[in-house]
Amino acid sequence: MNILMTGGTGLIGSEFIRKYASEHSFTVVSRNANKARQVLGDSIQTLESIASITNIEAFDAVINLAGEPIADKRWTDTQKKKICDSRWNTTAELVAKINASDKPPKTLISGSAIGFYGNQGDRLVTEETHPHDEFTHDLCAKWETIANGVNMNRIRVATLRTGVVLSDKGGALDKMALPFKLGVGGTLGSGAQYLAWIHLQDMVRAIAFLLEHDACKGPFNLTAPEPVTNKAFSKSLASALGRPCLFNVPSFVMKMAMGESSTMILEGQCVIPKKLTTAGFKFDYPTVDEALSEIYSA
Ligand code: NDP
Repeated sequence: MNILMTGGTGLIGSEFIRKYASEHSFTVVSRNANKARQVLGDSIQTLESIASITNIEAFDAVINLAGEPIADKRWTDTQKKKICDSRWNTTAELVAKINASDKPPKTLISGSAIGFYGNQGDRLVTEETHPHDEFTHDLCAKWETIANGVNMNRIRVATLRTGVVLSDKGGALDKMALPFKLGVGGTLGSGAQYLAWIHLQDMVRAIAFLLEHDACKGPFNLTAPEPVTNKAFSKSLASALGRPCLFNVPSFVMKMAMGESSTMILEGQCVIPKKLTTAGFKFDYPTVDEALSEIYSA
């Protein structure tokens, strides 16, 4: 397939390209051509903006992953706007390009996150669960709505309600592992909050699965089938690193350090990938122990 990708220099996109470079050809929209060349090599074609795409009909599929990192900075009003605009505007531009074409790509796979559901406590969350209204819900709901603005008679849309992607190549795990590596790791807040996660390899395999299965439409939870509490995750992480899990960072400390964005760690969702497993996708890393031991034994 000829695939157009935004966010292709990021954790998920770059791994997808690495894994499938011999099967598909890729064009990546990146704000920084030098960075794209460094991350992806010279063989991947890059474009500096969506506006510069002149041949959308040349692509079989579009994978839309671009966005300002969500958890890197405090959620000031300015930062929230950047997080939203970077996703909503990119997606709206893509949708306009696609809708203006006489022969649009067949498939649009577009980003979203389990933040769509908001805080759900220990309730089991599937794609049908009613969301709780908060910042991450508003962000993801509008992101999905904009993607769904393509002419659905002509193009299939699947949105990726992604959990925390586990990898040693970047993303949240590096930050989560650091205190354990320093010997001061432990649970965060009550430890009872759920963490829905997915191994990077299953993440990219699941995107490929959605790309190949024409019956897969709408939102999909991209999370492993066994979400865990923060307490269980912390124990597994300590064990995979061969370090102790002795400490606890109280909620108020997390709130002081991170502000509103601490809700992403102190609250959670027990999300399961109902639609993906029903469609026949098989996870290589269904449990957190398998995922973490693969990551840290590599
Ligand atoms: P990364 O943060 O690794 O990469 C995203 C890419 O988006 C970057 O490489 C960058 O590309 C582009 N980007 C960054 N900031 C901006 C901005 N302000 N405006 C426009 N483009 C920007 O993301 P991941 O690969 O980790 O994730 C891909 C998508 O999946 C993201 O949208 C993310 O929100 C979502 N997701 C990821 C999760 C995870 O755990 N990794 C969990 C849930 C959702 P360039 O510099 O080349 O333009």
